[in-house]
Amino acid sequence: MVTSEVTVNWAHGVMNVEVEPYPMLSVEEALAQVLAAFEPLPPERKPILEALGQVLAEDIFAGMDIPPLANSAMDGYAVRCADTAEASPEHPCRLRVVADLAAGYVLNEPLQPGTAVRIMTGAPVPPGAEAVIPFEEIERDGEEILVSRPYPYHKNIRAAGEDVRAGQKVLPRGTVLRPQEIGMLAALGRAEALVHRRPRVAILSTGDEVIAVDAPWQPGKIRDANSYSNAAQVLRYGGVPLCLGIARDDIADLTAKIRTGLEQGADLFLTSGGVSVGDFDVVKQVLAAEGEMAFWQVRMKPGKPLAFGHIRGVPLLGLPGNPVSAMIAFELFARPAILKMLGKTQLEKPTVEAVLLDEIKRKDNRRHYLRVSLEERDGRYHARLTGDQGSGILLSMVLAQGLAIIPEDVDHLPAGSRVQVMMLDWPERG
Ligand code: AMP
Ligand code: MG
Repeated sequence: MVTSEVTVNWAHGVMNVEVEPYPMLSVEEALAQVLAAFEPLPPERKPILEALGQVLAEDIFAGMDIPPLANSAMDGYAVRCADTAEASPEHPCRLRVVADLAAGYVLNEPLQPGTAVRIMTGAPVPPGAEAVIPFEEIERDGEEILVSRPYPYHKNIRAAGEDVRAGQKVLPRGTVLRPQEIGMLAALGRAEALVHRRPRVAILSTGDEVIAVDAPWQPGKIRDANSYSNAAQVLRYGGVPLCLGIARDDIADLTAKIRTGLEQGADLFLTSGGVSVGDFDVVKQVLAAEGEMAFWQVRMKPGKPLAFGHIRGVPLLGLPGNPVSAMIAFELFARPAILKMLGKTQLEKPTVEAVLLDEIKRKDNRRHYLRVSLEERDGRYHARLTGDQGSGILLSMVLAQGLAIIPEDVDHLPAGSRVQVMMLDWPERG
């Protein structure tokens, strides 16, 4: 999107780039172009607990049965079923208790007719034992127990391999590791697993007016919200943020900070600000000169201006500067890119249908993402706008649970209309 007339002089920060009018893309067109630039990252072997939320890059097979041995499902007495066959409340059978077996220990001697073993949950049943009678169903009389009914085979006994069989493929590659998969890996004796590594995401805010969170305030300045909201989003979706701070609206400063990010091994570069059509929007100038860059207008609101391309081979997303726009553009474009690098295939944000309680009128042929709070009533979600919807109103995000999506071709929605709401707090589908 850049004409041939490009002059750059890095040493003196002088530059003259003419940029052609930006193409207007739909959200889907922009997303398709962004996602085409990413692949799952190479696998790494790491301790299972650190791999929570990451994606398996290997098939996991069970090396042995789980449970490895048949064991008791209850605290009680292990018995032979034949001994209980004639038992009734009037004529209970008497069995002699010959041993006491705690979980973690095994008894190798076969259970003899007329005897029982006191056994705890999880202890392997001794050879010959066919059922376990819970304590509460039994009367104890000194060294004996009284059984007042017959017990069927396998009653309260967990079979070896009833959970997982030796040789079974338990977790296929591509599985997202949730707490239950981490537990399964541990049960299988796998302290480490091969997973696609987490993407490193460089984050750079731009603007002469932007100051650090802990800098003393001065007239004309505003605090850097975007570095923090974007870094928190990176963490939420499983990436590693590399926070590079704030670049001045100055070509030399911006170029230096981008180089720092590249030196830190970023897999994705995010900038915020400097991509609209103002005089000081240096991001697009630097990027056009340093990399292959496309500047787009995306048919959405908030978040219309967006830059995308590669800088020294690293994909870069130039997010808009307004705090709400930066967050929403992140959700729509950076989040799926991060998930794809993690090896995930479900890249869509979950949505629910809701009844919109406010009336919407507009006429701009853009897809609107309205910040809404949600309430569940009569089995339905009800969505209400979280106040002023300006792209600088960060409080509208703070109060929101979701983004109501108003399609491009809808210019009037009466109160009570059905809308799709993208759930901000549900990280991903599947
Ligand atoms: P820009 O896209 O650079 O024109 O910025 C658009 C608006 O967002 C301006 O009002 C900026 O002051 C504001 N803005 C830009 N960067 C940040 C940031 N990191 N934190 C908070 N506001 C910002
Ligand atoms: Mg700016």
